[in-house]
Amino acid sequence: MQAQAGEPEIARVCEKIEKLGFRAHVMPGAQRTAIGITGNPGPVDPAEFEDLPGVAEAIRVSKPYKLVSREVKPDDTVVRVGGVPVGARELVLIAGPCSVESREQILATARAVKAAGAQLLRGGAYKPRTSPYAFQGLAEEGLRLLADAREETGLGVVTEAIDVETFDLVEQYADCVQIGARNMQNFSLLRRAGRARLPVLLKRGMSSTLEEFLMAAEYILSEGNYQVILCERGVRTFADHTRNTLDLSVVPAVQRLSHLPIIVDPSHGTGKRDKVLPMARAAVAVGAAGLMVEVHPSPDHALSDGFQSLYPEQFVELAQECRAIAGLLAARSAHHAPVGR
Ligand code: PEP
Ligand code: MN
Repeated sequence: MQAQAGEPEIARVCEKIEKLGFRAHVMPGAQRTAIGITGNPGPVDPAEFEDLPGVAEAIRVSKPYKLVSREVKPDDTVVRVGGVPVGARELVLIAGPCSVESREQILATARAVKAAGAQLLRGGAYKPRTSPYAFQGLAEEGLRLLADAREETGLGVVTEAIDVETFDLVEQYADCVQIGARNMQNFSLLRRAGRARLPVLLKRGMSSTLEEFLMAAEYILSEGNYQVILCERGVRTFADHTRNTLDLSVVPAVQRLSHLPIIVDPSHGTGKRDKVLPMARAAVAVGAAGLMVEVHPSPDHALSDGFQSLYPEQFVELAQECRAIAGLLAARSAHHAPVGR
């Protein structure tokens, strides 16, 4: 739509789309509102729309992912999680334990990461574990503890939903629902996330291509939820010096193809505590909108992912250094046009 197009013009375009039997997806941007069309079995004639008042142009999206693509919406999407904008200027730090283990553990971590400057709290209540005998999470009790931590610290909560059955419960307590790497292509779960009233953090599958990653996000948007944050968390390669290989090149690649914000998880991305800080620095330098980092008050006693969890004081250092790097980039982009898009 043209920048000056208002509600009535947008409504008129949507009406026309629906009259043709298709679905309209209204996605407001900083400059202009984009309206995506899905449900059309074949090409739609752009001329059908170009003459409507307020329409700037009607384009055919060449990519297999439609609503996710920058062709549909050139402006960056900013996703609000509990009031925190993700994908805007400020670097967003999401930190917390891999799993919620106890009241003391989650509250101590929440206080520590908040003091270090994190804006959002992470922690799993439902854990997708490789072994059925490993700690599976505290389930609803874990969600309650996260809500208590939010109450005390004001930090918004990001937590994972591992199946459709427990999705409603997660939605009741969380500020953002995480879909994990193992579920990136769980299409019924993606559709459920697409009907959620909360933003979704979608992690890249451990062996998925960029196109598969964007197609997974498309499932969520296609159901009408446009609040999706993408997260690179490492992919599986022959390398065995780290748990996964953190594919930082996917950040500028996503930014070129999609309007959705992308963040990086250097914890699962490396699996080793001593690699988290250097890779976090690199992730910010490459342009990630935020970081998701595992922090535990006593990593050696963690019930999951202790090896990659930072001590709280290490997170203080990470937050300072990453904010400094983000500051340099912001100063630079104030003087130059963004590169690489
Ligand atoms: C997690 O964030 O704790 C997690 C299980 O991540 P991933 O799905 O990336 O393995
Ligand atoms: Mn973990």
